[in-house]
Amino acid sequence: MAITVREVLRYLHEIAPTDWAFPNDPVGLQIGDPSQRVERILVALDPDPRTVTNARYRDCQLLITHHPLIFRPISHVRFDDPVGMAVQALCEAKIALIAVHTNWDVAPGGINDTLAELVGLQEIRPFGKGPSRQHYKLVVFTPTEHTDAVIDAMADAGAGIIGLYRRCAFYASGTGTYEPMEGANPYQGQVGKREHAKEQRIEMLVPSERLEAVIQAMLRVHPYEEVAYDIYPLQVRGEHMLGRVGALPKPMLASELREYLAERLGNPYVRVYGKPNKLVRVLAVVGGAGSEYLADAQRALADALLTGEVRHHHTWEAWTRDVVLFEGGHAETETPGVIRLAERLRTLLAPHNVEVFAQGGDS
Ligand SMILES: [Zn+2]
Repeated sequence: MAITVREVLRYLHEIAPTDWAFPNDPVGLQIGDPSQRVERILVALDPDPRTVTNARYRDCQLLITHHPLIFRPISHVRFDDPVGMAVQALCEAKIALIAVHTNWDVAPGGINDTLAELVGLQEIRPFGKGPSRQHYKLVVFTPTEHTDAVIDAMADAGAGIIGLYRRCAFYASGTGTYEPMEGANPYQGQVGKREHAKEQRIEMLVPSERLEAVIQAMLRVHPYEEVAYDIYPLQVRGEHMLGRVGALPKPMLASELREYLAERLGNPYVRVYGKPNKLVRVLAVVGGAGSEYLADAQRALADALLTGEVRHHHTWEAWTRDVVLFEGGHAETETPGVIRLAERLRTLLAPHNVEVFAQGGDS
């Protein structure tokens, strides 16, 4: 029994929520019809011509890539440029395209966890920047019998998501007191008489872009004529940090570690910048283009940073900071995590008899 593109998006949201993506990273459905039926999916690093051909050859209805095809708003779709060609080929073959990018980099079991495991790190922990989003705590006071309805309304509008948990809320009982004035129409109590009402104080976390929708949803189900609620801005949270850092199975000189990484990544051309005779015990990893994480790696007490590709000015920053920098290849550091994504999807979609293919390395 096939499912739709929309349902696949829901499954993806469970393992790599779109709100974990970095700002302006265009993750999600890039091309196609959400109601299209899906029986075969190809998962790959890039939406390049070889991948699109592979998806057509395998008769897939959906292509999921790590790198988005359309990064910035485009003004033309010309069939003689690479992006336009891919759009044309996918539309002609009725293949939808979904991007799962930085939300999969940061996710548990995602690109960087997979890379950390591939190079044998132990006691793996996150480090570095995460998507910086403003969050608020919305506190509302409601009659006890309306507690669940208010929590559900706020959750349905986007409040109360913490990691892989939804409908997260805290409530505590108390007494609200007020005196309705002339013209008021109280849910409970009488005009001119002080009322003591049993109430619940409900607290929920709200990302800034959902704040207005959550308030409106809460007001729609709240029985009071005048609803008492407070909005608290919270410190920016970085709980979904991008990189991973951990101890190597045994300390190695940077020159030895280069050989070890080359073997683990299947890339003989791993390059090293910094002291070749430095002893590396703790290694930080960021798949893809992550050389800007040198300072974060240093703060995380790493002796070295492995990333996919290195900007020129970071090659000497590695010497200055005394953090050895390894350039392992963009594809070599991210493809293992892309294959892991295909495996996760294969398991999740097994009850729907959806075939999931992974395009990795030379397959
Ligand atoms: Zn990448």
